[in-house]
Amino acid sequence: MQHLEPKQCHLWRKEDLNNSDLRLNNFEELTVFTNSSHLTRKLLKCKDCGQLYFYEFYEEIDFIGGNDPQYQTFIPVETEEKAKEISKEDLLEIHNHSPRILIDFPEEAEKPLLPRWVR
Ligand SMILES: [Zn+2]
Repeated sequence: MQHLEPKQCHLWRKEDLNNSDLRLNNFEELTVFTNSSHLTRKLLKCKDCGQLYFYEFYEEIDFIGGNDPQYQTFIPVETEEKAKEISKEDLLEIHNHSPRILIDFPEEAEKPLLPRWVR
């Protein structure tokens, strides 16, 4: 699903995002859809410009040891209603939204990869 580009948000305009740009306390938490240790879904609002973002944190449990792969996704949404719809989707559907910000933490990595826009 294609969403409007959040053109007024500094996160959209910034060349190189870093992890401190995406710290959760840069956002106001409006709604919590799901909150467990391996899956969190929320509606966030940028404290800077008011842009709404659907947020997901997901950790894959592979039982192999070492780091479990995890990722965070920020999808700019127009309305709370839209975020509520997305909150009912499964993990693969979430990856069909664009634009979105993705922060990967693959199993082999020492630390999370830098946030990036998937357009
Ligand atoms: Zn913003």
